[in-house]
Amino acid sequence: MNIILLGPPGAGKGTQAQKLVETRNMVQLSTGDMLRAAKTSGTEMGKMVAAVMDRGDLVTDEIVIGLIREQLEAGGDHGGFIFDGFPRTLAQADALGALLDEMGQTLDHAVELEVNDDILVERILGRAAEAVAAGGTARADDNEESLKVRLMAYYKQTSPLLGYYYAKGDLTSVDGLGSMEEVEASIAGVLG
Ligand code: AMP
Repeated sequence: MNIILLGPPGAGKGTQAQKLVETRNMVQLSTGDMLRAAKTSGTEMGKMVAAVMDRGDLVTDEIVIGLIREQLEAGGDHGGFIFDGFPRTLAQADALGALLDEMGQTLDHAVELEVNDDILVERILGRAAEAVAAGGTARADDNEESLKVRLMAYYKQTSPLLGYYYAKGDLTSVDGLGSMEEVEASIAGVLG
């Protein structure tokens, strides 16, 4: 089973993806994690995307589609892929459809985590404060300024995907505002 988790930054996509990895042996493909790893290890690509990411804008479709293609081609024995933070544009959605087709695979569900924008901002700024309090460092883009850009990128570039997957008959929306366990149960209800 292959699924997409859709929703704005801070909606809980990463947390829920992690749960599905644990409970269903699925593989989480987070383009954000892949890009942060490239940034940290200082690869050419990492250097290229660093400023764009810190600002909160989207990196090019070409880069993220390339990252996803590599992961899909790596294959392996598992319970399917969870696309987390990908696709984020219509071009990426089309590319994902084509890649899955090429591999003889299908997309089974696009699950939207519905949240309230005021709560998102609180969650993300809270996540940054917690990281610092724990002696670590916050994500470079977990600050008010980048957050505004990330939310705008979501509404301008990513939210059209809700209509795209609705029209394909793949979309289900769940309430993303409950506890972690409640959201997990709602997603389980969709996946069956
Ligand atoms: P995330 O961890 O999913 O919030 O992603 C962090 C940042 O990585 C985003 O703000 C973008 O700059 C970049 N990014 C992650 N995934 C994508 C994607 N699918 N398309 C374009 N940029 C992405």
